Amino acid sequence: MLHSSDKSGLDNILQKALSGERLEDSDLLFLLEEKDGKAVQETASAADTLNRDINSGKVSYVVNRNINFTNICALNCRFCGYKRTKNSKDAFLLDYDKILEKISEGKKQIGIDEICVTGGINPELKSNPDYYFNLVRTVRNNFPDLHIHAFSPQEIYELAEATGKSYAGVIEKLVDCGLNSIPGTAAEILAEETRKKICPEKINTSVWVEIIKTAHMLGVKTSATVLFGHIESNEDLAYHLSLIRRIQDETGGFTEFIALPFISPKTSLRKQVNQTKIYDNEAVLKFYAILRLYLDNFKNIQTSWPKIGVHSALKSLECGVNDFGGTLMEENITKSAGGNFGEYLSEGEIINLIKQAGKIPARRDTLYNYININVSI
Ligand code: SF4
Repeated sequence: MLHSSDKSGLDNILQKALSGERLEDSDLLFLLEEKDGKAVQETASAADTLNRDINSGKVSYVVNRNINFTNICALNCRFCGYKRTKNSKDAFLLDYDKILEKISEGKKQIGIDEICVTGGINPELKSNPDYYFNLVRTVRNNFPDLHIHAFSPQEIYELAEATGKSYAGVIEKLVDCGLNSIPGTAAEILAEETRKKICPEKINTSVWVEIIKTAHMLGVKTSATVLFGHIESNEDLAYHLSLIRRIQDETGGFTEFIALPFISPKTSLRKQVNQTKIYDNEAVLKFYAILRLYLDNFKNIQTSWPKIGVHSALKSLECGVNDFGGTLMEENITKSAGGNFGEYLSEGEIINLIKQAGKIPARRDTLYNYININVSI
């Protein structure tokens, strides 16, 4: 049994990862528990080396716009500052005209390649599931080339409940309407006991896994996510990452891994969390490095600039991260939870930041096909 701060244990693990040998779950736990500053630096440096081997200094990004179509939600996730009830004065449900207007704006102003569409679990839509299908169809009819990345496994579940269709039936119908891929959100933390504490009304782990695998089997790619830096233990994180890696072995359907640090100020979970946890940049960067070393079947590890800020996002590019995420152009969810790092970066800003970090910017599509490498605009 290895113990953290065991120098030879760390060296062995890093050497294993660098030589292409798969890390065990016990190695993962060892890395997660390591706190020694020098050891963390060595971990980040190994992750950087591995990332250079895999991605040759390229850092990708996508030009996209988020469309949060409703903030009315029947669930009560304890980390969420976004949800509203129907009678809240700032509650909204967008109609299709408004959604099309936002997309046109995104197309005209920044040439978006993708929209990422998610919303609260709005009880009004339970009796009107066609809202979801027609939303996709309407967007597809108006924007034939746009990549539609929409609806989390929680939303797929709600649609299955509302329509009596299987998960596969819902996904197939959405694809018929024009859907291209699905965000792997609503994963939060997949260790069940902790999951129940932070989002008791959300689908459980086995349903999340079933929906994700169903999408992958149907040829619909998804991202993979984790919400970390709240009340989860290192064992919870190890369980989550191990499960994600096994799914990827089985299906190959994840495009990237996105680690989302908990943004606390306006949420009910905050009282339970040590406030330094989330803003401890070193811990966030260390986690990114561990993702690169452990998730050997993921080419793409994405940073989250709206949550950690541009400065830390740049640092993460030296810790194994190869994707800067998107321009976003509207990122209400982090902002509502108290995040204060803005909701839009222009493509030019992203390119300059990536160059500043000594890397090669590469504009990509949602499925990580490069559109333009070493971009100058
Ligand atoms: S995280 Fe999503 S599902 Fe949970 S309360 Fe917030 S809006 Fe609703």
